Amino acid sequence: MCAKRCTDLDSFMQGVADRNPGEPEFHQAVREVAADVIPWMQDRPRYQEAQILERMAEPDRVVSFRVCWADDAGNIRANRGFRVQNNNAIGPYKGGLRFHPSVNQSILKFLAFEQTFKNSLTGLPMGGGKGGANFNPKGKSDGEVMRFCQSFMTELFRHVGDDTDVPAGDIGVGAREIGYMFGQYKRITNQFTGVLTGKGLEYGGSVMRPEATGYGAVYFLENMLHTRDQAIEGKSVAISGSGNVATFAAEKVLHRGGKVLTLSDSGGFVHDPDGIDEEKLAWIKELKGVRRGRISEYAERFPSASFHDKARPWSVPCDLALPCATQNEISAEDAKSLLANGCVAVSEGANMPTEIAGVDVFLEAKILFGPSKAANAGGVAMSGLEMSQNSARRALQPDELRRLLREIMDGIHARCHEAGRQDDGFCNYVRGANIAGFKKVADAMLAFGVV
Ligand code: NDP
Repeated sequence: MCAKRCTDLDSFMQGVADRNPGEPEFHQAVREVAADVIPWMQDRPRYQEAQILERMAEPDRVVSFRVCWADDAGNIRANRGFRVQNNNAIGPYKGGLRFHPSVNQSILKFLAFEQTFKNSLTGLPMGGGKGGANFNPKGKSDGEVMRFCQSFMTELFRHVGDDTDVPAGDIGVGAREIGYMFGQYKRITNQFTGVLTGKGLEYGGSVMRPEATGYGAVYFLENMLHTRDQAIEGKSVAISGSGNVATFAAEKVLHRGGKVLTLSDSGGFVHDPDGIDEEKLAWIKELKGVRRGRISEYAERFPSASFHDKARPWSVPCDLALPCATQNEISAEDAKSLLANGCVAVSEGANMPTEIAGVDVFLEAKILFGPSKAANAGGVAMSGLEMSQNSARRALQPDELRRLLREIMDGIHARCHEAGRQDDGFCNYVRGANIAGFKKVADAMLAFGVV
């Protein structure tokens, strides 16, 4: 049986690799899902006969376009923009925009594929998409970022819309960039619609959207711990990243009485054995969000901390880990190091931060491991609620949104737990998320026939 399953997976993946050459991140994301879904489909032939997984792994469309803009010195610059619309079986395409020099088609196809399952898990009517550009906002003036965003939207507007495709932020795209893009969309189309989420509160944004991904990843962590009668209180936590997801994850860990030991950026990580408390965290939010500085400055400001150049925080002994920076930031070696140092649970705030070999290490050790498509779905869930508020032209109260976020994360955990629970009591949340996320989209696709 195992040999047959492996063969099926290998031949399926060979087809994916042949059709998508030079796209390793996309192959990785598809393999991770296919490894669980293919065996599950063995006695559910209707999904196989309709080629559902093959169709899900072929984006509905990939749009790529030139983005020209002028820098402050008057030089003409050209970047490449993308929108990957992966699947809209259960709702309009939905997923963030990433501005980072590493952006390419492989990374955006992996993110759009993952997003399809994640959005399905939220229980809200959202399909999966992702986009962005190989533009680096670091070191650019506000004027340069504005001109880039306007040029980007001058092409993107043809492909998005409140019932078609609703992008949001991601790495390098925060409130400033969303504001510039929304302004340009409105100018071109003469329409005020909820075409983007993550908007400012003054023009249709939702309270709780900035907090939602980081808070949600901690709620998921908490739910996993509760299945073993444990809690965050009193536990030490290693967190990577120092952007939107990482800082709000750290904030919620502090609310729950945990101790945050590390944060990082692409330059390295800081380790503060005294703990990064609320005051220090506020300083970091200002450093990264307003002054756009480097995390290394933290160690200069707080002498209890050390800075580790070009390193990741996974060698620091901790009870819990929250990778919240970027993809493939936990290797198998990092995973072993976390286990050896006593880590009992990992909740992925970033998208696909653990390499497949690292995931295997965690699953073999049977620690609590919350995969990104479940653990970080709080952000898109809140975006979904921003869409409904925009459509209803009515803003919900903060308490109501807080309650809904908690309820949605609890629901995601319950769905993953039900589909991932094994006979020996261990819950494989990776399998649970893959199967629960797949089934809803697959059933909708079956209903549509061959389209
Ligand atoms: P931000 O741009 O706010 O922050 C990203 C952080 O990660 C920064 O600290 C950045 O460091 C660091 N980082 C980026 N690239 C690398 C790299 N190659 N190596 C090491 N560190 C890196 O992004 P977000 O916090 O929004 O996103 C973080 C992750 O969470 C991403 O994987 C994103 O896809 C995912 N995510 C985000 C959601 C959201 O709501 N924002 C929703 C769901 C998932 P530096 O400052 O040096 O660039």
